[in-house]
Amino acid sequence: MSEPPPLPVPIISVRDLHRAFGSVRAVRGVSFDVYPGQVVGFIGANGAGKTTTMRIMATLDMPDSGSIGICGTDVVNFPTEVRQMIGWMPDAYGSYEHMTVLEYLDFFGRAFGLKREARGKRLREVMEFTDLAPLTSRPANKLSKGQNQRLCLGRTLLHDPKVLILDEPAAGLDPKARIEFKNLVRLLADGGKTIFISSHILSELGEMCDTMLFIDAGKIVHHGSAESLRRHNSEAALIDVRLVGNPDALRAWVEMNPGVELADAHRDGGRVRLTSAEPEAITACLRKMLADGLTVTDFHREERRLEDAFVDILKAQ
Ligand code: ATP
Repeated sequence: MSEPPPLPVPIISVRDLHRAFGSVRAVRGVSFDVYPGQVVGFIGANGAGKTTTMRIMATLDMPDSGSIGICGTDVVNFPTEVRQMIGWMPDAYGSYEHMTVLEYLDFFGRAFGLKREARGKRLREVMEFTDLAPLTSRPANKLSKGQNQRLCLGRTLLHDPKVLILDEPAAGLDPKARIEFKNLVRLLADGGKTIFISSHILSELGEMCDTMLFIDAGKIVHHGSAESLRRHNSEAALIDVRLVGNPDALRAWVEMNPGVELADAHRDGGRVRLTSAEPEAITACLRKMLADGLTVTDFHREERRLEDAFVDILKAQ
């Protein structure tokens, strides 16, 4: 009889993590595993506990209790070893005066202990990957937001870490820079890196990540693929409704009808959430709207957006 295949070993393993700042319980019993080569999105509202968790992963803070292992190494007891394995990109990074892009990366290459020849080779690779080669002699504090973000990513990659921990890397970037950044993340993942990335932009993370972790008030409230998230609470249906005339009529109608709520309003009407996704319930809803005199010009069921799934998860807490 053949042996069953071995279970994969997590490359990041977080167990019952707690961290409080005075009376603020920022992280309350967070546990999860990340497997080699995964791109994981870490999602939560402002103050949910993302940065606190990531700073402990990156050896920059200590938990009150619980543990984190990276490649099987404990972050609290062996921070120096862990720092060799991770690349940490913080959400805010200062720029240095009187330094060019090349000097900046060279400085960090030295800090990572890269010797002259290896450093020169690695700097060239990183600058090419992040498209910084045309900017080598530009002062590091005179870069655009997108260039600066690529510089910080370049710095994070210098020692070729296995695991990247990126805190809100796409914040403040224009749409083009966001797409470029997304492509870089995909290339890094294809090259075998494990990537843990926080963001508020759910749809973007959905395209980029294999799996998503939702955190709310210091607790993990969902862990799964974007697809499993869209299916979550799929007994509800979202319908986009467009009207001729006053779109407020839809709001008034929703208030009068049980089992229906307004997810959001737009210029021509809004999106309504039906508690039942049965075809009969959807047909009955349209019939009732028409019978009540709403001038419906368009009525169609929408695929659930990740944002809606997130809101539903939070409501269910
Ligand atoms: P954001 O998306 O706004 O960055 P976040 O999910 O990263 O939010 P954290 O920065 O982890 O959230 O903060 C979680 C909670 O802990 C917040 O209430 C925050 O004010 C608090 N907090 C974080 N760091 C400290 C600190 N050093 N001292 C006091 N409170 C802190």
